[in-house]
Amino acid sequence: MGASDVGSVLSTGDAELLVAPAEYAERQWSGPFCFIQAADPQLGLMKAWRDGDCDSGGEEWAEEVELTKQAVEAVNHLRPRPRFMVLCGDLVHAMPGSPYKEEQERDLKAALRGTDPSIPLVFVSGNHDLGNTPTPSSVEQYCNSWGDDYFSFWVGGVFCLVLNSQFFFDALACPELQKAQEAWLEEQLSRAATTEPKPKHILVFQHIPLYLQSPEEEDDYFNLQKATRRRLLDRFKEADTGVKAVFSGHYHRNAGGCHEGLDMVVSSAIGCQLGKDTHGVRLVVVTADAVHHRYYSLEQLRVGGMDEDLGKLLRRP
Ligand SMILES: [Zn+2]
Repeated sequence: MGASDVGSVLSTGDAELLVAPAEYAERQWSGPFCFIQAADPQLGLMKAWRDGDCDSGGEEWAEEVELTKQAVEAVNHLRPRPRFMVLCGDLVHAMPGSPYKEEQERDLKAALRGTDPSIPLVFVSGNHDLGNTPTPSSVEQYCNSWGDDYFSFWVGGVFCLVLNSQFFFDALACPELQKAQEAWLEEQLSRAATTEPKPKHILVFQHIPLYLQSPEEEDDYFNLQKATRRRLLDRFKEADTGVKAVFSGHYHRNAGGCHEGLDMVVSSAIGCQLGKDTHGVRLVVVTADAVHHRYYSLEQLRVGGMDEDLGKLLRRP
């Protein structure tokens, strides 16, 4: 399912949301840039949550469509323009095979088509996109609709890995697919360590966070199980070209932490909030030696744009 080479280009299942391939093979660092990380538009959850029926509700999603359009509008107005916008999973609420899935996906794509064509969209699969226990058929459906479930790309000298975190969560129904992603990931990380030029940073995007507050916390619906978490954390931190940050969603609240140089970023949702955060997206500024990020409410970003201190980092040579 995943692309095979370091620096290979992602594909998406929807030609109209397709990304310009040349933008994704930039191995050379060419100065600071920004991108947008967002998560969980999850069309249908707001109504289902209000009704207290998250399993079978979700027959209305006009609010999430509106919020997605607001996010797109705010992102389009940013200067300098973000180099891409990544949506970290739970694109829609309906599980594979449930009513409304097609309609929700259709309406999300329609809302996203307003994104400025110079800002490529990168899709990450979530549990609602694949099912809590993904199957070969649910993975195939996802890939047909949104493109590969795992892949890598280079942007401005930074190496980015998109992972299918459902395989880390529960691969009982698709052990072969899980094994393939593991082998691919290992190959990507080892080749990233030896390739020239070396990536300025390595970033990972996945739906389920490794942890919410601390690497030692107990297992939870919203994090990955301890053994898997430990294994990934250790692998990501290895060597001098270790992963700098893991960006995720799933929690519908902002959370995360930084441990031993690895930043675990958990961003709240464009759609339904399960805590006290606002509907929003995260602006990420990548400089030669750091990855800065800040969560903005949609309103704040639309009205005020990015804060001066982040803007300054982008103007520095
Ligand atoms: Zn989720």
